[in-house]
Amino acid sequence: MTETQSPCFVGVEISKTLLRVGVVDSAGRSLARLDASWDVGPDGPDVDTRVAKLASEAIEKAGAKPGSIGRLGLAVPDVDAWKELQPRLAERCGTAVTMAESLDASARGEFWVGAGRGFHSMVLLSLDADIGCSILVDETAENGENNHGGQCGHILIDCTAGSRLCGCGQRGHLAAYVSEAAVLDRAREAITAGRQSSLSANNVSIEKLTAEADRGDALSREIVAETARVLAVGIATVLHTVDPSGVLLRGGATFGGNSTATGRQFLETVREEIGRRAFPVLAQRTVIDYVALGDDAAWIGAAGLARLEQLRGSSRSA
Ligand SMILES: [Zn+2]
Repeated sequence: MTETQSPCFVGVEISKTLLRVGVVDSAGRSLARLDASWDVGPDGPDVDTRVAKLASEAIEKAGAKPGSIGRLGLAVPDVDAWKELQPRLAERCGTAVTMAESLDASARGEFWVGAGRGFHSMVLLSLDADIGCSILVDETAENGENNHGGQCGHILIDCTAGSRLCGCGQRGHLAAYVSEAAVLDRAREAITAGRQSSLSANNVSIEKLTAEADRGDALSREIVAETARVLAVGIATVLHTVDPSGVLLRGGATFGGNSTATGRQFLETVREEIGRRAFPVLAQRTVIDYVALGDDAAWIGAAGLARLEQLRGSSRSA
């Protein structure tokens, strides 16, 4: 077993229903992880106490020596809403706290020890209810002058009048075709319009669509393939704009990702279509893949950001 590299870092992920705390060593190896149910917002009672308590339990479980723990990293759904927790937690834990938005933390986790290891730059696309996107160049998340950068879900892919309506109110955006909700809408519309399918219009979900595509239902397969092709059009624009080392995909609208035949076919179709749409050098060299860390990405990434801040701090004071 490889020896633990000091110092260790604590990563915390706060989501709507879950508090997750883990400890990694300096090389990003996970030493311990604890989950607790969570039902409070930023103004909830004893938020800092609850986080600090689980953190100290995780440190104990990791067997980390007192004094070997560096900064703490915190991943939250909305940095503005949770900003007051940062100084309170720092005081409670007696250590500096680094805070990031959960998706940026996840991107950092994948970049550090996940599917993006070895990349110089990457784009994480999360195909969920909406499209999340995080762009990392070197070690830094690119959020733009007005914090509106990296809005890849709103890449314009169809300028015609009848293009689909996006949740933002504009038409023809990527999210209007490839978010989970958009995929299900497209399936329902096709069935209502009379397409034969083993799916039922009033009871369609991503899981059912994936299962029916696995079983060979033609409409389900078409919906998956069309989602892949439209996504590839959006990714081609990202490649032509950012030229990242890789684009990593996750979320419900990857149809199970590597764990299903449909998910694996989805990724192949995305790659093939990028091959037709992007400059050859980009199509050949850019890694297009699924994420690797699953639900560990955000807390590991938050710990990684804390490590980075500590390294930057010590290089500044050196
Ligand atoms: Zn939009």
